[in-house]
Amino acid sequence: MTGQNPVFIPGPTNIPDRIRHAMNMQTMDHRAPDFVDVLAPVLRDLKKLFRTETGEIITFPSSGTGGWEAAVTNTLSPGDKVLVARYGMFSHRWIDLCQRQGLDVQVIECEWGTGAPADRFAEVLAADTAHEIKAVLVTHNETATGVFSDVGAVRAAMDGAGHPAMLFVDCVSSLASMDFRMDEWGVDIAISGSQKGLMLTAGMAILAVSRKAMAATRAATCPRCYFDFRDMTRANAAGGYPYTPPLQLIFGLRTALDMLFEEGLDNVFARHQRLAEGVRQAVSAWGLKLCARSPELYSNSVSAIYVPEGFDSDALVNHAYNAYGVSFGIGLGEMAGKVFRIGHLGALTDVMVLSGLATIEMAMKDLDYPIELGSGVAAAQEYYRKTSANAMSAAA
Ligand SMILES: *Cc1c(COP(=O)(O)O)cnc(C)c1O
Repeated sequence: MTGQNPVFIPGPTNIPDRIRHAMNMQTMDHRAPDFVDVLAPVLRDLKKLFRTETGEIITFPSSGTGGWEAAVTNTLSPGDKVLVARYGMFSHRWIDLCQRQGLDVQVIECEWGTGAPADRFAEVLAADTAHEIKAVLVTHNETATGVFSDVGAVRAAMDGAGHPAMLFVDCVSSLASMDFRMDEWGVDIAISGSQKGLMLTAGMAILAVSRKAMAATRAATCPRCYFDFRDMTRANAAGGYPYTPPLQLIFGLRTALDMLFEEGLDNVFARHQRLAEGVRQAVSAWGLKLCARSPELYSNSVSAIYVPEGFDSDALVNHAYNAYGVSFGIGLGEMAGKVFRIGHLGALTDVMVLSGLATIEMAMKDLDYPIELGSGVAAAQEYYRKTSANAMSAAA
């Protein structure tokens, strides 16, 4: 029966029944003339999610990591300089990918628990008077540390320095759970995936690409074939795909978009904010600390929580799974053993979050953590009671 429990990992996330049903379908011929009626509206509607009018949507059958590779190889050439800050496992892996692609990566090392350093980007960009830096790479929501970065501030730093570099943003764990504004922030490539805020299985990288980034494909010489933007845009324009599309995922994505638009994007973001705040209230009632250093960095899709000195967060996560059949996120990279993570994004309600908090509390108590059983749950309950749109009127 534990297969019925929700997961509290920050991706892949819980898949609503409605989306599972939408994906349960017979194969359809992707070369048939009416495939365009399936794909084109999905690509068009994805623009609303990225809040872009002029960007072009590009999808690949791959996980989010393939989206990074596509962004880099389509627009840059070996030896090109890129500027990126390392503040968690995902920004680290993106740096690693750029280095393996032969780029000249200028890394700003930041403490894990902090976010994209707009002020330090501003200094480096201002000093780069020859405009050798071709792209600035930002991880919007660092899933390893639960840190959310201000992309608008990075854009302002770039504009302030009068620097023409492109801005690439990883929004894999923020899209469809926290506000994302491609056009307003002047993002050149936004990279996301299907298995987080979009509530689907893994298997589709979803990118939004600006005209400037699309123009950069002409000079870029990084080798690419499967991930070539031009093959994809040409095939999409003709109503198809350059190879076999993940058909069931496209149907699931149609339904995911319908669900997000029916709820209303602002309501989706408000729901994530409220769920996350309940978790934060619990963390503080336990007397534990978030990895994210300050409130403006708090992520609404995942919380990374330090375990007390002398405890091993991986053992806690293992115990929660073995004893109660509920998954939480382990600590990654520098945070291995030090933090556990509660993913609170995607198809989730306050009631579901309470079950996760109750479970991790039991697991902590089992392992003799210095916490009071029920304290975190009670704090979250109080917060959810007070902030439920319907609770007060229903009680009246
Ligand atoms: C999940 C995630 C990715 C992509 O991981 P895949 O497993 O390749 O889908 C990239 N960046 C961030 C911030 C993520 O959370």
